[in-house]
Amino acid sequence: LGRWARAMSILKELEDKCATPTGKLKQVANAMTVEMHAGLASEGGSKLKMLITYVDNLPTGNEEGLFYALDLGGTNFRVLRVQLGGKDGGIVNQEFTEVSIPSTLMLGTSDALFDYVAAELAKFVAQEGPDFQVPPGRQRELGFTFSFPVMQTSIASGNLIKWTKGFSIDDAVGQDVVAELTKAIERQGLDMRVSALVNDTVGTLAGGRYTDKDVIAAVILGTGTNAAYVERAQAIPKWHGLLPKSGDMVINMEWGNFRSSHLPLTEYDFTLDAESLNPGEQIFEKIISGMYLGEIVRRVLCKMAEEASFFGDTVPEKLKIPFVLRTPDMSAMHHDTSAYLNVVGNKLKSILEISDNSLEVRRVVVEVCNIVATRGARLAAAGILGILKKLGIENSRDGEIRRNVIAMDGGLYEHYNEYSKCLENTLKELLGEGSSESVVIQHSNDGSGIGAALLAASHSQYL
Ligand code: ADP
Ligand code: MG
Repeated sequence: LGRWARAMSILKELEDKCATPTGKLKQVANAMTVEMHAGLASEGGSKLKMLITYVDNLPTGNEEGLFYALDLGGTNFRVLRVQLGGKDGGIVNQEFTEVSIPSTLMLGTSDALFDYVAAELAKFVAQEGPDFQVPPGRQRELGFTFSFPVMQTSIASGNLIKWTKGFSIDDAVGQDVVAELTKAIERQGLDMRVSALVNDTVGTLAGGRYTDKDVIAAVILGTGTNAAYVERAQAIPKWHGLLPKSGDMVINMEWGNFRSSHLPLTEYDFTLDAESLNPGEQIFEKIISGMYLGEIVRRVLCKMAEEASFFGDTVPEKLKIPFVLRTPDMSAMHHDTSAYLNVVGNKLKSILEISDNSLEVRRVVVEVCNIVATRGARLAAAGILGILKKLGIENSRDGEIRRNVIAMDGGLYEHYNEYSKCLENTLKELLGEGSSESVVIQHSNDGSGIGAALLAASHSQYL
């Protein structure tokens, strides 16, 4: 076999292994529904943790006052303040700042991470202007969005189960993250109380509900991925507490850890997982989310270079470095519409130092991006169908058209258009005529921060 033919056979095999025909996606959705039931039935009953969030009321629109939020969970963290206007007043004012997390802190100690975060928070509070008002004698209150799996013990406490994405800070595992943050806030000499601890999905759900009454679930597609939705408290066998007055409980699915024999996995996924910080875990996340898509593409290109001399006689050194090809660069290549695929050429050159590449080679690179992104987007859609099935709303009866809105956020969904387009089309394909119109995906830009502030307001110590 010649070089080109060998490269084509690697491409063909990738395409076959990543295939997601409708039937397979329905199997994935059914498996998701089954695991949701199992995770709700008993603690440890499923790979889906189906965590109880202690959020049994979503924002009503009556929330009032100045509240802060801190969103920690990926490459950046955000701090924001919102002045809420109370009944029909909406959001009167909001300000935020975004700071990147030094990568050394992601692998350091709990104190180092929380001190850094609290210091940035203190700086931001010090810049509070006259547009924001905390009533005299009152403590400032904060909603803490923390996008890692936490076993909550109340609305404002919970122990870290494990790290995901690029984080690994051993001494924080098992600790109450609110206590850790509170101690760090005190070390800064800042007077502030953490009133709500929320996962980013829960924040997005709350923020989404504030602007649209029909929001029933939230999905994050960013560095990682996760989903939360409103469950009936009676449908949670593992919940032994009092039934909330509302009858509802928001569930943080932690769907990134979903796994099923129906998932289309490749040799690239197996090695990526084996060499990751958390082998065997977060398998769904590792095939659909932003941290990993570019890395899967790199692994495919690397195999083409090694086994088919795809980029010339030697394997480009840069191509051997894990995570050099980031998902934003992958999406820039995938979106390249120029006749000669100049963006692809430039990325190959600047990131991988591959300067000599023909148009044919560039086309193959785009096709690899397409295959990997398509699999991810279609599987994400199948996950959403799983939630709709659990809630029994995947088949709307004729005449009864009720809107069901999914609040969606995350950099991957927001910026990777081919991905989000594919996700939306796939969901339509899966739902079929009729129900596809009643299910709406709503982009909720930074809903998670606002949502955390809203939940801090509804759980304020002054209510
Ligand atoms: P986080 O998930 O870390 O809280 P975001 O929701 O902002 O943060 O998502 C950031 C992630 O989104 C990045 O890690 C990256 O994977 C993805 N992303 C950002 N920009 C783009 C882009 N232009 N194209 C594709 N993916 C992107
Ligand atoms: Mg986030």
